Amino acid sequence: MVVAGEDRNDRLALRVLLEEFCPQMAGRIVEINDKVRLHQASDANLAARAETLASKVRARAVRDDTSVACVFVHEDLDNTDSDAYPIIRERVQKALESALGNVHYALAVSEIEAWLLLFPDALSAIAASWSLPAKHKGKDTGRLPDPKKILMNEVSGAGRRYRESDAPEILDRAAKLGVLDRPVGRNRSFDQIRVDVARCCTEHIRK
Ligand SMILES: [Zn+2]
Repeated sequence: MVVAGEDRNDRLALRVLLEEFCPQMAGRIVEINDKVRLHQASDANLAARAETLASKVRARAVRDDTSVACVFVHEDLDNTDSDAYPIIRERVQKALESALGNVHYALAVSEIEAWLLLFPDALSAIAASWSLPAKHKGKDTGRLPDPKKILMNEVSGAGRRYRESDAPEILDRAAKLGVLDRPVGRNRSFDQIRVDVARCCTEHIRK
């Protein structure tokens, strides 16, 4: 199993989800640091970037003397959810499949921090002073233009302020609280990753 993406914290956050939603993946995930830059690429660049990523994955498999069952590629859309999101995701997914075979494109709307806002109890478990304001609770967090700013200025504040390195721990807390499969509110990209992990777990992972 490979998790690819540009940001270490985001890769770790994605790993928490994969291992929680598919325990067979635990201990079998390696990470590849790659400046993905896929959804904004032209068709020709997209194919080339997918191929670059595929060659990195193959090189890693050779180095580790193993085979790769599947790849998850993370990227933030850096835009809110809209009718464009499924179209953008599908285009990149197809290009990645051509280069890699078994692969899932984890395109977060609007960014991976939006997923954290689905777990108010986990946020409060990180620091006593942290709390998700009622106006953001139970909402479509993919429609929020700047979830990172909400985490920094509205959820946290004086005392301990949210940092990007907190993201994996927040999802890990949600898993330990048993609420990772019960998000408060919704986010289409979070639903998508759950569907993808479930499919991967039954179809791509050798038992
Ligand atoms: Zn898979």
